[in-house]
Amino acid sequence: MDKPEKLREIAARLTDHYGPIWRRPGGDLLDILIGTILSQNTSDLNRDRAYAELRRRFASWEEVLSAPVEEVEQAIRGAGLHRQRARRIKQVLARLWEERGELSLEFLAELPDGEAERWLLSLPGVGKKTAYIVLLFGLGRPFFPVDTHIARVTRRLGLVGENEEPHAALAPIVPRGEELGLHLYLIRLGREVCRARRPRCQACPLADLCDYVLSKLHPALRTLLRQGHPPPLLVQYEDGDTEPAHVDREGMLALAADPEVCYLEPSRKLSPKEDPG
Ligand code: SF4
Repeated sequence: MDKPEKLREIAARLTDHYGPIWRRPGGDLLDILIGTILSQNTSDLNRDRAYAELRRRFASWEEVLSAPVEEVEQAIRGAGLHRQRARRIKQVLARLWEERGELSLEFLAELPDGEAERWLLSLPGVGKKTAYIVLLFGLGRPFFPVDTHIARVTRRLGLVGENEEPHAALAPIVPRGEELGLHLYLIRLGREVCRARRPRCQACPLADLCDYVLSKLHPALRTLLRQGHPPPLLVQYEDGDTEPAHVDREGMLALAADPEVCYLEPSRKLSPKEDPG
């Protein structure tokens, strides 16, 4: 299975697993941009609180632009890094005012994808993730923002190489039209199942597609698994215990996905006495 095919299969399985996404692109683009600047390196809860406080204290983005930076800092304190973020927000608003004469990003809807992307990336402190969130969530354009969860999950799945930049690696293989759903599904999988420490592979609908799981198999077993001929196994557990097993393909993958199992390798043929099956 090549990477585009694998990602199509992943999108289909996650849609089955989590159900369809009803969210549709839309909303004010500048609101989305400022909300995303507030979300960088903080939790959704802190971002939401900081954004709500900013909107409560200032009636418009024009008021934020003309307010002293200290007042903006106070409003967004809850998001952390409030000095840096307040400066960023004011720089973005100032640039927009100077260049467009109004505080609106709706002109992006008239630009082709590449031009809209370049314009957003030219803003101070706006990287690919932030720019692509505005373009995908606001305008439904075919961009794929990668956050820390998506970067971790897609590396483990073998879609992004160790030294590859995730946006560059994923952009050519994300199925067109699946960007929004895949983005939301992979973040949810990363939060609930494919956690940074001790991923819950046994509960994951992608275990048989995952390089992290397959990496626990001895290389000879990977070949035999692809051929559909699982041999007797030696299972090594984290606590040092070793035991023989004779399982089918599903059983082998379930063992590989077990967090207690650290390694699987082919065993000599089991004697009838040892053979658990
Ligand atoms: S099988 Fe495990 S490592 Fe792979 S994506 Fe699922 S939870 Fe993450």
